[in-house]
Amino acid sequence: MPDFRVLPSVDQMLTSPEGLLLTEEYGRLAVVTAVRAGLEIARAKIRAGEDGAALATELPRRVAEDLAAAARSALRPLLNLTGTVLHTNLGRAILAEEAVSAATAAMANPLALEFDLSGGGRGQRDDHLRGLLCELTGSEDATIVNNNAAAVLIALNTLSEGREAIVSRGELIEIGGAFRMPDIMARAGAKLVEVGTTNRTHPRDYEGAIGPETGVILKVHTSNYRIEGFTAEVPAPRLAEIARKGGVPLLNDLGSGSLVDLSTFGLRREPTVAEAVAEGADLVTFSGDKLLGGPQAGFIVGKRDLIAAINRNPLKRAVRLDKIRIAALEATLRLYRDPDRLGERLPTLRFLTRPQAEIAAQATRLAPAIDALLQPHGYSAARCACQSQVGSGALPVDTVPSAGLRLTGSGGDAPERLSARLRGLPLPVIGYIRDGALILDLRCLQSDQILIEALAAL
Ligand SMILES: *Cc1c(COP(=O)(O)O)cnc(C)c1O
Repeated sequence: MPDFRVLPSVDQMLTSPEGLLLTEEYGRLAVVTAVRAGLEIARAKIRAGEDGAALATELPRRVAEDLAAAARSALRPLLNLTGTVLHTNLGRAILAEEAVSAATAAMANPLALEFDLSGGGRGQRDDHLRGLLCELTGSEDATIVNNNAAAVLIALNTLSEGREAIVSRGELIEIGGAFRMPDIMARAGAKLVEVGTTNRTHPRDYEGAIGPETGVILKVHTSNYRIEGFTAEVPAPRLAEIARKGGVPLLNDLGSGSLVDLSTFGLRREPTVAEAVAEGADLVTFSGDKLLGGPQAGFIVGKRDLIAAINRNPLKRAVRLDKIRIAALEATLRLYRDPDRLGERLPTLRFLTRPQAEIAAQATRLAPAIDALLQPHGYSAARCACQSQVGSGALPVDTVPSAGLRLTGSGGDAPERLSARLRGLPLPVIGYIRDGALILDLRCLQSDQILIEALAAL
């Protein structure tokens, strides 16, 4: 019969000095639960022959560790050293300080969300963004929804429910997760009419498909892959002409949709929203948290009558934005009025445009310090060159030269084991495994000290 008497009772644990401190921090219920679980494990170990006195001694520390781990949110901030600046699984864009302040104020205070401060009457929540969006994109009108997937859904539903939507076979893309263009079109109530082939679609393909049942021509920016070789697509201006002649609207889903010409920042061009509007699309849809660098949102800009029809669609209420994101978006869009300072103020652009030499210098500075932190754990660190990418489907085949740290250890699974340990840190550090090493791309690291402190907790 194993002797459990060396273990304290739940009551003894709760009234001990350690127990009282823990109760103060985490609350009585959480501590009772953790103590019971700790005692359960200790009893099992005693049954298995372990030393009861030692287990009793370490019990308070174990309970404290369990409580700390349970209190830590999995949603806590982390270091994105994956080299993918807009990482969908890590929350895409980091907001500018201005947007964070605006969102914080909106969370903690009442604000004139649907209230006209000058007249005192009712206002529209989209009004806060409409003017800015029209100014920045050259469009007549704009409306805002939960994300770009919702923007495509509500636009298609408004224009082509029970009618036909024409789209090129080369543009029937899957964005990821369950967002596949044909499925979204079906949910919008549109009848999909595919034209052309996977690699080539011509003007005559669209012209031949337009009929009395056509509700919309849809053009999709194939943002996350590229077809190369023997290809042909109908350029947007030509497609706009075909749509106009056929008397049907053209909807251009840009996906990432930049508001500025990225080539002025040394990156490869993505089509800008203003260009898509100028090329004659009746509606253009794009995301808030991709290249634009704001919170999750979907924008629809274009012709006044079509935007009005979308706003009358009952779905609009189901996909509308909350005040926190409207405030953050307004602050983000305002930054675009001063393009000269955008590269410093918008984190997405700041990260994407960081020169490789600067990142390499940071890697050189950090390598010895990180190596010293890792050596006691059996790993070493050296600087390395690597390639970053934009992410979120923007500029899919382009990489940006970067620099980072290459972490290695002995044993075939060393990178996986180290990767797991870094994920478990109070400030998790996320890299990627390549060629038997864990790579930390430093492009998105805001300061040396952050990484040193994060790894010091190993
Ligand atoms: C990303 C993307 C979407 C979906 O946008 P979300 O903002 O993620 O909902 C739709 N269409 C295209 C072309 C995209 O690139």
